[in-house]
Amino acid sequence: MDFFNYRNNELYCEDIPAARIAAEVGTPVYVYSKATFLRHYHQVADAFAPLGATICYSIKCCGNVNILKMLAREGCGFDVTSAGELFRALRAGGDPKKIIFAGVGKNDDEIAAGINAGIAAFNCESEAEIENIDRIAGALGKTVVGALRVNPDVDPKTHAKTTTGKKESKFGVDIDRAERVFERYRSLAHFRLAGVHTHIGSPVLEVQPYVEAAQKVIDLIDRLTARGHKIEWFDVGGGFGVNYTSLTQAKPVSEHAKLLVPLLKNKPYKIAFEPGRYIAGNAGIMLTRVQYRKTGGSKHFVIVDAGMNDLIRPTLYEAYHHIWPAKIRDIDTPGSRTKDAPPADAEVVDIVGPVCETGDYFALDRRLPPTQRGDLLAVFTAGAYGFAMASNYNNRPRPPEVLVGGSTYTVIRKRETLEDLVRPEEA
Ligand SMILES: *Cc1c(COP(=O)(O)O)cnc(C)c1O
Repeated sequence: MDFFNYRNNELYCEDIPAARIAAEVGTPVYVYSKATFLRHYHQVADAFAPLGATICYSIKCCGNVNILKMLAREGCGFDVTSAGELFRALRAGGDPKKIIFAGVGKNDDEIAAGINAGIAAFNCESEAEIENIDRIAGALGKTVVGALRVNPDVDPKTHAKTTTGKKESKFGVDIDRAERVFERYRSLAHFRLAGVHTHIGSPVLEVQPYVEAAQKVIDLIDRLTARGHKIEWFDVGGGFGVNYTSLTQAKPVSEHAKLLVPLLKNKPYKIAFEPGRYIAGNAGIMLTRVQYRKTGGSKHFVIVDAGMNDLIRPTLYEAYHHIWPAKIRDIDTPGSRTKDAPPADAEVVDIVGPVCETGDYFALDRRLPPTQRGDLLAVFTAGAYGFAMASNYNNRPRPPEVLVGGSTYTVIRKRETLEDLVRPEEA
């Protein structure tokens, strides 16, 4: 459920016509809905409230500091994967006690920054990392808490590039090795290994992979407890899927909670979740204008003013984004986020960008109402891993970000300028 809807054949973000934002801010542009962000955050928080769970929003999916501020005000914690994300979390007023630091390759500066900020915990992914954190904490005269990321070897049934919880993945340590790791680091001077972390992949549409992973971790924690380890928390990770192809593709988080809450209730350790996509995915769209039309062989191309540098998911993950005109005709289905709602006169087109790469596309062989130069298109479900993955490839300034709240909007990140492109190069 989001707040991007058609009224009188025109796409609105909350109470503002998308066309107005495009006209005033230009295209391409990312447009976020405050109400959608908050609704999705509260859905997660409410679903896991019976566990007293800490919700740590995964900054990497959409990390604008103004969005983080909005979430921090609601009591949301943060999952960070770099010094940059930690900086953003703190700048947004995030409570360090609700910040978790993940990532397979944290460098010394990042570890020190996390320790100095007094974050809740490090999610550790290797023995070498544990030893390094202990060493750095010692040098800083501090003691820190960490969790071991275990690889529960479950198949989340998602894209190979976003599968993280299988044995062959670079993430975490195999769950059957976890006990040995806990034994080995039972009494480090400056590091207390006191938690278990999983993150099986993303987007995960089924509940079963979570249940399977959680059960394996619960059993592991029972065995660790029996060996005298004091486990303080279990971080279940993120990955909850969202609706890309239809309004019923993904389960609401309450469906995940139905099975996970009974499993995790009344445990003597704290529970954390790290949702990113679920909160941000449907809270953002990207608006782009049709530049040119052309044909090539049997193909019809709609060339738009956004490129793969602005939104890389279609070409990186073969991801599907619903794309639809911001202004529709009476015969067009309004904004139903489904693959199969084109009008009778739909064209089959490739929607492509201006970047010098064959992979620069948003949709291939897509049925779309007829469009012409100047038409505004909305790329839906672009809130997560959209702007966050944008780059300057082809020396294209990155697009602005706009946050809508009711009938007003704020530009929360300016469009980059040509000067911005060369500024760091000035000798
Ligand atoms: C990316 C990531 C998340 C968030 O995944 P979503 O699919 O956006 O919910 C959570 N935890 C870890 C460790 C991650 O790497």
